[in-house]
Amino acid sequence: MKIIKKIFYLFLILFFVYKFFFYVDISNGCFVRFKPSFMEFNTGNIKDAIAVLKNAVPQEYQKFCGNVSKINPNIACGGFGGGCFYGTEREIYLWTSHGSFVGWTAAIIAHETCHVVQDLEERTMEEGECYKIGNEVLKSIVEY
Ligand SMILES: [Zn+2]
Repeated sequence: MKIIKKIFYLFLILFFVYKFFFYVDISNGCFVRFKPSFMEFNTGNIKDAIAVLKNAVPQEYQKFCGNVSKINPNIACGGFGGGCFYGTEREIYLWTSHGSFVGWTAAIIAHETCHVVQDLEERTMEEGECYKIGNEVLKSIVEY
């Protein structure tokens, strides 16, 4: 029986790690890792926001899947409820909480994804383009 117990705990740990540290959507080639946050486990809000993005704005979701590989949910320059891109390859910062409006989080994800794309295409960091995308996402979600 001991071995069964061990296997059970192993699965429990794997489930925990998967639930809090990964977003996986195989059919869309999406594999995103969450960095550990010392604030709170707010990845639930981020995962909900990703789901909203997927349903309401599929083209931005595809961009997110294709370009972002890491989400850092710790305090960043965007402030509370904001996001940030520090130029670290394919990594975006998102500081949200369980209570944050998922549509807003989804818009921030799209905004920061836009900066990742600018970086990967070796273009200069330009806010106008990314605010436009964020606003469009927010609009689509509210109308969805
Ligand atoms: Zn920006």
